[in-house]
Formats: sequence, C-alpha cells, structure tokens
Amino acid sequence: MQRKPKVTVIGSANVDLVIETDRFPSPGETILGNTFHQFLGGKGANQAVAASRLGADVTFIGSVGEDIFGQQIVDNLRKEKVNVEHVLTIPTVSSGIANIQVAENDNIITVIPGANANLTEEYIQSLSAVIVASDIVVLQLEIPLEAVTIAIEIADKGNVPVILNPAPAVPLPEDLLRKVTFITPNETEMAILTSNAGQDFSVLFQQMFALGSKSVVMTYGKHGVIYGERQRELQNYPALTVQAIDTTGAGDTFNAAFAVCIACGKSVEEAIVYANAAAALSITKLGAQTGMPTEDEVNRFLK
Ligand code: ATP
Repeated sequence: MQRKPKVTVIGSANVDLVIETDRFPSPGETILGNTFHQFLGGKGANQAVAASRLGADVTFIGSVGEDIFGQQIVDNLRKEKVNVEHVLTIPTVSSGIANIQVAENDNIITVIPGANANLTEEYIQSLSAVIVASDIVVLQLEIPLEAVTIAIEIADKGNVPVILNPAPAVPLPEDLLRKVTFITPNETEMAILTSNAGQDFSVLFQQMFALGSKSVVMTYGKHGVIYGERQRELQNYPALTVQAIDTTGAGDTFNAAFAVCIACGKSVEEAIVYANAAAALSITKLGAQTGMPTEDEVNRFLK
C-alpha cells in the first residue's frame, strides 16, 4: 500500500464462549463438559482487526457492556492497533455474547446481542465528523438498522464510499441500497436480499440492480467471487487454492481487504484479486481472527 488509508468500521463486537461436551444436557439436567474456549468475534470487530493487519489506519465504532467481556473486546482491538476512542461502553447491558455448545457433531448457539443492539442513531450522528473524514466506511447488519442507515446517509452526503456486508441478511430499503457504493453478500445473503432462492445468479444480480444497488461483489466460498455492475457482464474470480482448515472469518477478511484496497484508490478488479488472496490465506488457520493475514503475507502469497 502506498499510503495508510483511513478505514472506519461501524459494527458489532462479541465474545464467543464455546463449551464442548459429549452430549447435550436435557432441560433441568446438569452435566460435566470437556473443554471451554473463548474467542473474540462479531463481524464489525473482525473486519476492523483484518483491515488493521492489512495496514490501514482503522477506527472502530461500536459498543460494549461495562463487563469483563467488554474490556477484553477493547483490549484486543487496541492490541491490534485499532482506534477504540469511539467504542461506547453502555453500563446497563452486557457485551455481545455467543453461547456455543458443541456436542455430537452438532452445536446449539444462543447469541445475546447486548450492547450491539443498543448502538443508537444519535450516537452515530454524533460521530459524523469521524465518518466524513474516512477514506471508506465499512458496515454489516449486526447492529440496529437505524444505526446502519444513518451512517450510510452521513457517508453519502460526505462523498465517502461505503461497503455494506449485508450479514445477517434482511431485505433492505431501496433508498439505502442506492447510497451504498459496494454491497458484498455471500450467495445465501444474495437470495435473501432479492427474496429469490433461484440459482441463476445473473437474475439475482439484475434484481439487485433493480433494487438500487450499483456494484455487487458476491462472495461464493470456495468458488471465489462474482462481481457485477449495471450494464456490464458479470466477472468471475475463481478462489485461490489453499488447504482449508477453518473458513470462519473468510468473509470478514475479504470485506476488510477489499475495503483497504478501494480506500487506497485501487481498481475494483485489483481489490477483488487482493481480497480473494487475503480471504484464502485466512482459512489456512484455525479461528476467525487468528487466521487473518498481514499485508506482507498477502503480498508474498500474490507474488
Ligand atoms: P464467513 O461467514 O464464514 O466469514 P462468508 O459466507 O461471508 O464467510 P464466503 O463466501 O464463504 O464468505 O467466503 C468469502 C471469501 O473467502 C470467498 O469469496 C473466497 O475469496 C474466500 N474463500 C472462502 N472459502 C474458500 C476456499 N475453500 N478456498 C479459497 N478461498 C476461499
């Protein structure tokens, strides 16, 4: 990267609490489990960490509870050189938590959005100056839609490009889609956004354009990426061949890498090639954030 782009990520931060047991307990039953692991996550925090490792000057806007998990989330972001000046601590709710129980080759997951659900429109509005001073704004849908909407409006008025990773997907208003520079659904999210489960992607892309989207970057797991703009043929970018260990966080790495390149003034094509490589590298290690590569690692991989 020639210069350090300013990337502002607005989104969620969670702690995943993972318990492994031989079997699931029945209601009312207490059993002894085998192991306990804790992982830091949330699409917002993950994308902020990934962009920082790729050399961007990253500011994270989000909220945590006034508890030990909130402290861990903030400490980790700080360790990853993410600016946490605008992370709000809300005393009345818990931090975002995912309670994950793994047994019998299956899992049971309960997510408490906690502080993530309490990020308000007013708080985002109060940070308008930070948003308009960014080279790019990156959002997902794990915080209230009103907060996402106001952030997009502020960025749009300030001519700051916006990447919206629509996860978890819900159908979105056309007015919002029109103001997003790049929308980055995976294939499942694309079907939800268009309310169409068909596998003919060219139809789904046309539907996205009809809904107001300008540029759609569809990630497609091991198949790579399909990129579409109005009035242009769809472009296919095959995934790079790597030994897949854990695909958790591949989408987050992709979005962060794509954002960093666009913020640096690279073309969409260059950004997709780079992000495809960063995302492929991210799946060669266990854990979402553990596998996120540095700028040097991606450059070496692409040589
Ligand atoms: P997640 O929710 O697990 O973070 P996602 O569903 O949002 O992921 P995917 O479409 O599965 O995102 O993957 C994002 C990108 O990661 C792909 O477009 C591709 O670049 C890369 N990728 C994913 N799986 C593979 C794979 N098996 N081999 C190489 N690259 C991969």
